[in-house]
Amino acid sequence: MITLSGKIGIVFGVANQRSIAWAIARAWAQAGARLAFTYQNERLRPEVEELVATLGPETPLLACDVTKDEEIAGVFAELQRRFGKLHLLLHSVAFAPKDALEGQFLNTTREAFRIAHEVSAYSLVALARAAAPLMTDGGSIITLSYIGSQRVIPNYNVMGAAKASLEACVRYLAYDLGPRRIRVNCISAGPVNTLAARGIAGFAKILKHYESHAPLKRNVQPDDLASVGLFLASDGAAAITGQVIYVDCGYQIMGV
Ligand code: NAP
Repeated sequence: MITLSGKIGIVFGVANQRSIAWAIARAWAQAGARLAFTYQNERLRPEVEELVATLGPETPLLACDVTKDEEIAGVFAELQRRFGKLHLLLHSVAFAPKDALEGQFLNTTREAFRIAHEVSAYSLVALARAAAPLMTDGGSIITLSYIGSQRVIPNYNVMGAAKASLEACVRYLAYDLGPRRIRVNCISAGPVNTLAARGIAGFAKILKHYESHAPLKRNVQPDDLASVGLFLASDGAAAITGQVIYVDCGYQIMGV
């Protein structure tokens, strides 16, 4: 059995109970980690608050829009004050304006490109830099990507470019942080029906396509992602860093 007993983690990207971040966070908590959470906007706060409360009344829930440096600084100052250190960071955050997630990639505006990359890729760099000083015993940083970074998935568009950037950031961060025993890895997930996914035009068709084309003939479930997130957070993955690990029922190996 994997244990995260004695580890402290921070989770970015729980919007509701379908969020991939929530599945991974629950697995971390069940394995004994003490966790803190962030939320982006007040509108979603009550739902996140309710979920987080199920892990115990003492679980910190902090406001953090990852595009705001002062909010990032505030989160890590609070973690320093409450726990004094950190071992795990889950980055499960992505955004692109809705009209950039349909039609031709060719029409991506400068602003949509900037927003998608800032929220979905640069934020990992900003969070890793803020977390590293607290990861004095080493650490594990995990982010979420999608195969649209490598291949053309119609309508995924600018998010594909942002995920390619994110995966490159994982490698450069792994190199920089390796000497401090801080590992940085990426789970490339098959499609899961979440709030963010529903913003992508034609998402239901993608789910059907995976089910019929993936070698395992099914879609990935949140628990599949949770167990890999748990492994990557654990000391069992101590020699794994800078990797993109496909958790997609084998879809990535297929040609046609
Ligand atoms: P989700 O539940 O909607 O989670 C996305 C999270 O990103 C939300 O909590 C959202 O917060 C947050 N976010 C967006 N802009 C932010 C900002 N400026 N600051 C802070 N947080 C912000 O969807 P999900 O599918 O679990 O997505 C999690 C990650 O998995 C994303 O990186 C996504 O690209 C990746 N992924 C998803 C799939 C899939 O099929 N679902 C497949 C592969 C990879 P708000 O809701 O408050 O805006």
